[in-house]
Formats: sequence, C-alpha cells, structure tokens
Amino acid sequence: MGVISSDFKATPYWWEAAPPTDGTRDTPDRSYDAVVIGSGVTGLSAALTLAEGGRRVLLVDAGQIGSGASTRNNGSVVPFGFVHQELLEKRHGAELGAAVARVAVDAFDHLLAVPGRYGFDPMLRPYERYFLACTPEHYRHQVADAALQAERGIGLNWKPIDRAEVVRRTGVRNYHGALYIENSMALHPGLYVQGLVRAAAGAGVDMIGNCRVLGIDRSMDQHIVRTERGEIKARNVVMATNGYSDRALPYLKQRIVPARLYLSATEPVQPDLMQRFFAGRQLADSKRSMSWIRPSPDGTRLLVGGRGGMRGNDPEVHAATLYRDMVQMVPELEGVKLTHCWYGVIGFAMDFNPHMGEADGIHYSAAYAGVGLCFGTYLGNRVANRILGRPAAESTTALDRLPFRRIPGPSFMNPVYSRLGIEWHNLLDWWDLRKR
Ligand SMILES: Cc1cc2nc3c(=O)[nH]c(=O)nc-3n(C[C@H](O)[C@H](O)[C@H](O)COP(=O)(O)OP(=O)(O)OC[C@H]3O[C@@H](n4cnc5c(N)ncnc54)[C@H](O)[C@@H]3O)c2cc1C
Repeated sequence: MGVISSDFKATPYWWEAAPPTDGTRDTPDRSYDAVVIGSGVTGLSAALTLAEGGRRVLLVDAGQIGSGASTRNNGSVVPFGFVHQELLEKRHGAELGAAVARVAVDAFDHLLAVPGRYGFDPMLRPYERYFLACTPEHYRHQVADAALQAERGIGLNWKPIDRAEVVRRTGVRNYHGALYIENSMALHPGLYVQGLVRAAAGAGVDMIGNCRVLGIDRSMDQHIVRTERGEIKARNVVMATNGYSDRALPYLKQRIVPARLYLSATEPVQPDLMQRFFAGRQLADSKRSMSWIRPSPDGTRLLVGGRGGMRGNDPEVHAATLYRDMVQMVPELEGVKLTHCWYGVIGFAMDFNPHMGEADGIHYSAAYAGVGLCFGTYLGNRVANRILGRPAAESTTALDRLPFRRIPGPSFMNPVYSRLGIEWHNLLDWWDLRKR
C-alpha cells in the first residue's frame, strides 16, 4: 500500500503557515556596527539583542531569512540536549558536567520568556514527553542518568517509569520503560522564527536573504565581510551558521560535523487515534538514530522524525523510512499517509556539546547536536551580551570552560565522518535491538 499522499510536498509543513522571507532590504549599507551571519534562532537572537543594545546590525543569510534548520525542526522545547549525564561527567568531571547540564535548564527558561517579551504566539504549549527505552540496557541507563541528575540538583526533572507504567500512560507497548520529561513544551517553529524576525525588524535590524558570505578579512580594528552583494565593514561579526557552515567560515567548518535530520507530516489522523496516543504527548525512542512523533500544534496530524533513509535525495524514499519507524512505534498508525517530507542540517562538535565563544575576533555559537531551539535562542543572546560588554552573569556560561576542538583532517572530510558516524550508530542500534 502506498504511504505517500497524492498531494505530497518536499517542503516543510511549517512553511505553509509561516514561509521564510527575502528580508527587509535588497542591498546592505557599506558599514554596520555588527554583521550577524545566519538567520536561524541563533542569528536572530544575537541580532535582536545587539539592536536593542543600540548597535546598527545587518543579518545576512545565504538562503531566505529563517530557511535553515530553525524552521525545519520538530519544535520540541526541552531542557535537554547533551550526551548522557553519566558520559558527560566521565568526560568533564562531576562539577563541570553538572554545570554544563544546567545550561540546558537556563536555555529552556530563557526561551519560554521570549514570546511574551516580544508579543507573539508561536503556539508554545506543554506536552508530556516520553523517551521510550528500546532495550532493558537502555532503560538501565535512563534510570542511572535520572538518579545522577537528581543527586546533582540539576533541575531537569527526568523521571524513569517502568514498562507497565509506559503502557498505562501512553498506550504504546513493545518498550522496556521510559524517561518521562516533565518540563517539556513544543511550539510551531515557523511561527517562532517569524516572531523573532518581526521583533528584530522592529528593533531596526537590516535583513538580507539570498546573499552568501564569501569570506571575512581583518583590517585594523574592523572586519571586512565579503558577500555576494559587496563588501561590508563591521566592528563585530557573529557566526550563527551551525550545521550549514561552509568554507567562508573555516573556524566553524573545521569543528562541526554536519548531519541531516528528516521530518514528515502525516495527513489528518482519525481523532480517536490522536486522542488515544497523542493528546498533549510526544514520543521518542532511545535508539542512537532516534525516531520521534509529535502531534501538530492544532492536534490534527502528526510530525514524524528521524534519520530517514540512509542515502540519496529522494524525499519519498526518506518518507517511506519514517513511515516504517512511525508504525514500529505505534502499529495502530498503519495506513496513515504522509503529505510532506523534508530535511534540515544540524551540527555536532566532537564532544557533542554546544559551544560559544570568540575566535580571531569573530564571535560564534553553534553545535547544538539537534536540540538548538533553546540553546540557539539563549546562546545567541549571550554572545550579543558579550559584544555589548555586559556583566559575566549575562554573557558567559559553563560552556566557556569546554575546549572547542578542531576535527582532525581536512574539513571537506567532515560530511564523510558524519556518514560513517551514522552508519556506525545504525550498526550499534541493530546490535542492541536484535534481541528486542
Ligand atoms: C528535522 C530536525 C528536527 C529538529 N528538532 C528539534 C527540536 O525538536 N528541538 C530543538 O531544540 N532542535 C531541533 N532541531 C535542531 C534545531 O533546528 C537547530 O539546532 C537550530 O535550528 C540551529 O539554529 P541556528 O540558528 O544555529 O542555525 P540554522 O537555523 O540552521 O541557520 C543557519 C543559517 O546559516 C546560513 N548560512 C550558512 N553559511 C552561510 C554563509 N556563508 N553566508 C550566509 N549564510 C550562511 C544558512 O543558510 C542557514 O539559514 C532539529 C533539526 C532538524 C533538522
């Protein structure tokens, strides 16, 4: 049976309510106080804070404004994002590991206040969130992580629940337990970015889409930003290009492994199924190549995400893979067709942690490992506060203490590393799940 709807589209479902735009200007002025490169949540947050701090700001993007991962994602707003707490502490020690995890809580709290501050409604609502354990071993890790976080008082409030409780609460079977994430919200990412774009435009930020930055040179105490529409002088530059960083920005390109994540939207689902499995609830599984399902903000259809098919650019092939993942998680969804499938590019650092800082006088924030809505909004604001000379409490985080290591070898190999990493994860998942 075909799983692709006859009106299938390869563009994000979110863009129907909030399409990306071309910006506010066709040509930039020749000089600004600050140029922000990349118009996702990181760049918009940085540009908005800088403009509110009295700086003349240009926001520039190679594509349309907001057309990167920030309007292509699942819209989950979760105080979470790092590798397992156990692993984090093994790598960085208990004190720094806990401090780094607390950044996720600060970032979550920061995002929650943004729509109210700027007066827009991105359909931000609470959702129960369950990370379903695919194996008994995954569940043991979940229990250990939650215990460590509680012991450190990190404030993430992750609660392990056993198999019977998972069935009772969610109706899904076939899992060995779950982490229940209490502080979990979700929004419409298109409306969220649209709200930030309007706030930034209102604060006076000039925005130019479809204008790639080709390189950055230094001249005395200024930067010369070379773009497809001419050279621009700026005292400060912010790189907010995350997984899309190209060779114009070698510092980030050498440190970020890009990876595609895929998302599909279904046709409207029968109300009784929506009510039974997804009333105010999001599900994800514990595979390394995670699969997840959330209801659309209007509660009529589902968004289904994951790594998609292994290779190629055919969206229908990737949609078919996501369909299989969806039915594996909730078999009752068999027969529900997919109307959209698209991908976005995310960025990983070698240590899987987000990073912010300054390199050769250029500021950056990136590498959110697939959970950048909170981190991008929060760290973009911190980077801007640093440029504005604000106190440490507003401009630094525990992430400053982490080295942002260069990935060995030439950066054109990074997509190859990404591919190998995904294949390796798939192999480990296959090994873990073979006796499920
Ligand atoms: C399918 C999917 C699901 C996800 N789900 C979630 C989720 O539920 N919750 C969550 O928190 N996160 C999620 N993420 C991750 C999140 O979307 C990203 O981490 C976040 O959007 C990164 O924001 P950003 O502003 O740093 O980068 P982006 O939004 O990716 O923007 C970077 C921009 O830089 C531009 N650029 C690159 N090079 C240049 C250049 N040389 N000149 C000019 N412009 C340039 C690009 O065109 C791009 O628009 C998901 C991502 C994907 C793809």
